[in-house]
Order: sequence, then C-alpha cells, then structure tokens
Amino acid sequence: MKYLVVVGDGMADYPLEELNGRTPLEEASTPNMDYIARRGAAGMLRTVPEGMEAGSDIANLSILGYDPRRYYTGRGPLEAASRGIKLGDGEVAWRCNLITVEDERIADFTAGHVSSDEAGALIDALNEEFGSAGRFYPGVSYRNLFISALGNGLSSTPPHDVVGGRIEDHLLRPGHSEEAKELNRLILRSRELLEEHEINLRRVEQGKRPANMIWLWGQGKRPRLEPFFDKYGVTGAAISAVDLIKGIARLAGMQVVHVPGATGYYDTDYAAKAEYALRALEEVDYCYIHVEAPDEAGHEGSVEMKLRTIEDLDEKLIGRLFDGMGEEMAIAVLPDHPTPVRVKTHTSEPVPFAVLSPRITRDSVRSFSERECRHGSLGFLEGVEFNRLFLA
Ligand SMILES: [Zn+2]
Repeated sequence: MKYLVVVGDGMADYPLEELNGRTPLEEASTPNMDYIARRGAAGMLRTVPEGMEAGSDIANLSILGYDPRRYYTGRGPLEAASRGIKLGDGEVAWRCNLITVEDERIADFTAGHVSSDEAGALIDALNEEFGSAGRFYPGVSYRNLFISALGNGLSSTPPHDVVGGRIEDHLLRPGHSEEAKELNRLILRSRELLEEHEINLRRVEQGKRPANMIWLWGQGKRPRLEPFFDKYGVTGAAISAVDLIKGIARLAGMQVVHVPGATGYYDTDYAAKAEYALRALEEVDYCYIHVEAPDEAGHEGSVEMKLRTIEDLDEKLIGRLFDGMGEEMAIAVLPDHPTPVRVKTHTSEPVPFAVLSPRITRDSVRSFSERECRHGSLGFLEGVEFNRLFLA
C-alpha cells in the first residue's frame, strides 16, 4: 500500500455571515475532497492537545503521530533541524529574529522584512562580536537562529505577540537567573552593534526600518523523535515550503522532498507538489504534503483568498494526485488547525478529516466540511491516533 496525506494549513473555519452561514470549506467547490469523504470515511481530530498553543508545529507533530506534550521542545530546534544544523546534547536552539526597536519598544518583529543578504551580513557581525556566547546562523530574512549552551529553561516571548510592547517588559525570565541576565545583556548589547552597522545606516537613509536588535525566543533542545519507520513500519517523505514542517520530518527520519515552485504562499505550485509526491511514492510508502496557503488567507482575514486557496488545493493538487494514483493507494485530507478569517489567527478546535482507503469501510458522510465530518464513522480522535488508523 501507498499512502498520501494532504494537509491544508489552517483550512478549517467558522460559519460566516457573508457565506450565508456556511464555512469556506462548505462554500468552496471541492469535488476531490468531497469524493474522499463520500467514498471513504470521516471523523474529527484533536490536533492541539488541551492547554497547548495552536501552532502549526504542534498540530503537525500530532498528525504525524508524535505527541507534542512529550516531543515539543520549541520552534528553534525544529528550524535548526530543517536547516541541517545538528544540535549536541547540551545545546539549545533559539529563534533569533532581527527586529526594529523604536523608543524602547518593539516596532516591527520582521525589521521591515530585511533582505536575506542584509541579514546575513548582520549575522556575521554578531558572530564576530558575541561569538563567545554561542553561534548565530543566517536564515531567511528576519528569521535567524542562535545556538548556545544557555537558557533552555527560561521563559521567552515571541516578538510577533508583543509588537508595540516595551523591550524591558518582555526580556527573558526569570530576570534573576544568571543565564537570563547574560542573554538579556546580549540582546540589549546587540542594539549598539547593529544600530551603527553600515547596512542599517543605509536602510534608515532609504527610509526602511533598521534591523537594530536581535530577539531570542522559541528555544529548546533537540527533540528525540522515534523514527517514523520504526513507529509505523513504512518509509515516509514530506513536502512543505515551511521550515518547521521540514524540521519535524527530518527529525522523524523522513525524506524531505524539495519542490521547485513551492512558496508557502498563494502562488505556490500545487501541481508540482502533486507530481513530486507521486514520484516520491515510487521510493517511499507514505507521503505527507503540507500546503501553507489557506493559513495565509486566514491570517489576512480574506474570505475570497480562503475560498480560492481551498479550491486550488482541491483542483490542482488533489485532482492531480487522483490522476496519478494507483489501485493500492490510500489518501487522506485534513487541516492542521483552523485559522478562521474572522479571528485571523490559529484556533485549537478539532478539525475534520476524511480518508479513502481500500482498508477503511465507507460511511455516510457526503462532503468534506467541519459540519459533515462530525457525523463520520471514525468519530473524535486524538491527533496521534490518526496515522495508527490510516496506516493500520
Ligand atoms: Zn498551521
């Protein structure tokens, strides 16, 4: 058997007035998802454990079968894994944003979307000046990493949650800890270095926001995921434009398939993802395809784009998968969590899922939606039960 899992990030939503009380999944034309639900079986999945944040990393860990309560250590180590940075036993991976500080407040957690080239030069300067505390790694734009022996147990704050907030209110805690003191000093001193850097002087001259401070958050040690093959007895591959998802796959010992044209945005090449997934299945048994675009539409609060990304995902990706699928194949579709356009952020309600597999008995669900899948024969499951059912 071969297995395909298609995850539309943030696809689930609430009933909307402008859609006459229907959700985007109900409103959108989705013949292929509906086919999976109608010919297969459906249910609801709790992908975000009680009390945890509705992050994509947490929800996707769940779906892949790794209980986030046990395995989630932070965003930093997942991104480090995605970039092939191997963490030693004592090492802690931090997300290191380049941010813009104005009047002692966080003005922009992206530093005006500083370019990767500019960020790379600033990261070099940080390594030269502060190399004794740890090592900075350049990433994409403002999203960089810092690997250090310090600070694993400290409490840190994602900068996107406190835009406009005062720096001193959101530094690492508890403030009396020696490690917090050292790292907070590093954060504050980075400003002296970065503000005077020629790249920032030029940015200010051009009317752009300077990347004038680092912000450390999302830290953790390397999570030790049991290899996917040992867990399920099948070989796996993953396709995603998102670092976090690629990091999880790598740590689980899955192949990470690079797809040219996968952007993580509306213009992502859906058909290419399908082609590469089908090709991956010639080598491995299980392919996990993650599509970020519906989540972006949710964050932007755009009903129109939510509908379009769902329809694109259905037609260009799942439709193409159907064209290339053989007899001995199973396919599942689900979101990782809702990103309702009304709230523009992730929520933690259970999500609908549908599976079409020669081994799973068909039920009476007729279409793929939040409402319909509640009546599915597979009932309400915990996220970590999904693969056990799908791969049984
Ligand atoms: Zn997500």
